[in-house]
Amino acid sequence: MYDLVIRNARMLTHDELVDIGVRDGRIVEISDEMNERGVQEVDAAGDLLLSPFVESHIHLDSVLTAGEPRYNESGTLFEGIQVWTERKPSLTEQDVMKRALTALKWQMANGILHVRTHVDVCDPNLTAVKAMLKVKERVAPYMGLQIVAFPQEGIASFDGGKELMEEALRLGVDVVGAIPHYEYTREMGIDSLHTCFHLAQKYDRLIDVHCDEIDDEQSRFVETVATLALQTGLRERVTASHTTAMHSYNGAYAYKLFRLLRNSGINMVANPLINITLQGRFDSYPTRRGVTRIKEMWRSGINVSLGHDDILDPWYPLGIGSMLQVAHMAIHTSHMTGMQEIAETIHMITERAARTLQIESEYGIEIGKPASFILLPGSDAFDLIRRQPMPRYVVSRGKIVAATDPAVTKVFTDLGEEERIDFRKPLT
Ligand SMILES: [Zn+2]
Repeated sequence: MYDLVIRNARMLTHDELVDIGVRDGRIVEISDEMNERGVQEVDAAGDLLLSPFVESHIHLDSVLTAGEPRYNESGTLFEGIQVWTERKPSLTEQDVMKRALTALKWQMANGILHVRTHVDVCDPNLTAVKAMLKVKERVAPYMGLQIVAFPQEGIASFDGGKELMEEALRLGVDVVGAIPHYEYTREMGIDSLHTCFHLAQKYDRLIDVHCDEIDDEQSRFVETVATLALQTGLRERVTASHTTAMHSYNGAYAYKLFRLLRNSGINMVANPLINITLQGRFDSYPTRRGVTRIKEMWRSGINVSLGHDDILDPWYPLGIGSMLQVAHMAIHTSHMTGMQEIAETIHMITERAARTLQIESEYGIEIGKPASFILLPGSDAFDLIRRQPMPRYVVSRGKIVAATDPAVTKVFTDLGEEERIDFRKPLT
């Protein structure tokens, strides 16, 4: 007898429906027709079975603060940082924990079970860091949460910036951040990256840099991040997020850069929802999209994953925590409407994002791995992107942690016999 059996699930890689057997929180059997019974049984009825979505870039300390103390009316990154600086003095641990836990539950309901959150350390009290470490413990039975020490106002340009980064690492954050394009000068930006790599080596942590998030084609810190990743041997333990300046690089430089990015083995995270919104604000027409080169990097063999970045905060006034919304936007901003391209965006919010977080050994639908997966009412990758359904079930380590009843829509006309509308493309 298994603890849980899922029957008649459709995997993206198989034609036949499969059954999944779970015992002690791990997958113990995957077969076409399982004889063993389960204490709990779920009939997936042909729903898609996917590894859980992975959120590789979100700011959980600022979620759900949009309008506090005021809205970001210009819509720029810089007014966003200013509004956040005004909100920061009123942060309490309780305030951060309440908002972060709400957003994490939204994410769980949307099928996300692994999250990397950036947390601002430019606060002498490190209030948000302390709160997020408690949140990490609270959600640990259900979700994996990685915390990045993120210096929103700079390491070199903020008074005591380096000491606050180091204190956050001592408190136990998982990843070292940096924001070189925001430092006062290019030299201070380079200096901040050396500090970041030094700290990662000293404390044996991963690296995730907010890198070149600006429309300035002269912002080229990503080449330093990749070179340091090569020289230190940290390679795939390093991630460059945003890199929106790459949108504006000339072709010759981008070509040269891609070779370095590939050789370095670093991960790239694009945040299309936020960067299509924040970038291009200083352009007259034509207005740049300002999203990094998702398609071109993926085609060059570089690991690219997608992040939501913000939910209802000074940088983005929308969002429900859905990775399918993120993928949908990536497809639009990056001209990825080809068959293979649309399917690829699902990998960018699952396996590729797991590689960014370096959690691959415990991720995936395989015998022996944790029984963490989602069941979505959909027929294929296209269908998921087009309709963006909520998962019918979210299973974490063998336990159902969220469930959504699919909406039923009916049409009352004489335009045919069918009253119930199914937005799925009929399977032939
Ligand atoms: Zn960010």
